[in-house]
Amino acid sequence: MSFRFCLSPRIPLHMKAPRGIAILGSTGSIGRQALEVIQANPESFRVEVLTANRNWEELCQQAIAFNPNAVVIGDESHYNELKDILWPLGIKVFAGEEALCSIMDMEGVDMVLTALVGYAGLKPTLAALRCGKPIALANKETLVVAGDLVTGLAKESGINIYPVDSEHSAIFQCLAGEFHNPIEKIVLTASGGPFRGKKRDDLATVLPEQALKHPNWSMGAKITIDSASLMNKGLEVIEAKWLFGLESSQIEVVVHPQSIIHSLVQFEDGSMKAQLGLPDMKLPIQYALGYPNRLANDFPRFNFLDYPTLSFEQPDMETFRNLRLAFDALQKGGNMPCVLNAANEVAVDRFLKGSIGFLAMSDMISDVMQSVPFEGSPSLENYMASDAEARRRAEEW
Ligand code: NDP
Repeated sequence: MSFRFCLSPRIPLHMKAPRGIAILGSTGSIGRQALEVIQANPESFRVEVLTANRNWEELCQQAIAFNPNAVVIGDESHYNELKDILWPLGIKVFAGEEALCSIMDMEGVDMVLTALVGYAGLKPTLAALRCGKPIALANKETLVVAGDLVTGLAKESGINIYPVDSEHSAIFQCLAGEFHNPIEKIVLTASGGPFRGKKRDDLATVLPEQALKHPNWSMGAKITIDSASLMNKGLEVIEAKWLFGLESSQIEVVVHPQSIIHSLVQFEDGSMKAQLGLPDMKLPIQYALGYPNRLANDFPRFNFLDYPTLSFEQPDMETFRNLRLAFDALQKGGNMPCVLNAANEVAVDRFLKGSIGFLAMSDMISDVMQSVPFEGSPSLENYMASDAEARRRAEEW
């Protein structure tokens, strides 16, 4: 069996009691949509834990509405405000990074949705796996930074990681019933983002507000900029390697502007399977939380007649160098994807603050990748050191 990842054919128990979900990053785009899914399926899911970084007011409102067992706020300065309101309601309140990890052990947590953004997802994901909790993984950066450690731990503990990213969910859905069949290749589709078809000269002066206008998806700021620069697709290529146990030569990217085909798998007999639907993150969120069940819903349905043409293009890796850099990092392996990710997080932040231009993001990431010492077989400590070093160099760039 060539399928090396932890998405084993082992079928989880049917949901007898509502599954207790911890949503890490409940105030974000994925987190809010997950709450809508849970609200619509009270017989299948209940909210056990909610977390945010700084947005304590929204976290507080969510807690009042969903009555979780506990909330965690990353920024400890908001602990007292939350505690004053939520303790009297019987909702436990914790603060800080440590709490985010230790809460995974809570008995009522049956599954953890990692919907926080960036490198911050790594430690809580590892903590959840150590506690034996299945993961619904939106936070792709976790697998980019330390995919070997995360999937290694999942396999060792026999815990599944269910993809939430729409492309990876599509591949996972295509693999249902096929786990014993080797994958020849996968094709990740990309919308191309708001600057599809543009050349480097057109992009030299684009502003954050232009980059923040995605044609098909409404998402958090970081992933929206990553989509505009094609770094998001690069991160997804690395994510796919770890989720599905693939070599980089087995992963292709095709630009598909309508975002209807969410991705494809080709098997060894040449047959291809695709998953289609309107672009709506609630479907992959629901599939990951409810696996192996498909839950009825009233999401708008796709109608072929509304889309008489579905089109496909090669990605332009000369203009959008980030995708090329991600393939380079994947091929080099070791700490290089971690360095790529850290440099990119700083690049996006600096672009949003206006301190560097759109094209400079790739220049900076490339320079940082060349300057941080290479580690072939990093430990968790090595990854943390590489992340810190790459950030330092990217801030100084
Ligand atoms: P958002 O920026 O909308 O939300 C991020 C969430 O994480 C917020 O709840 C935020 O809290 C919290 N958070 C941010 N930083 C930290 C931190 N250091 N410690 C703890 N919590 C933190 O992001 P998205 O929902 O768009 O994306 C979340 C993840 O899902 C990303 O990895 C993204 O790549 C992935 N993803 C997103 C998709 C989408 O459609 N949005 C699609 C596919 C994948 P606060 O509100 O307090 O800042």
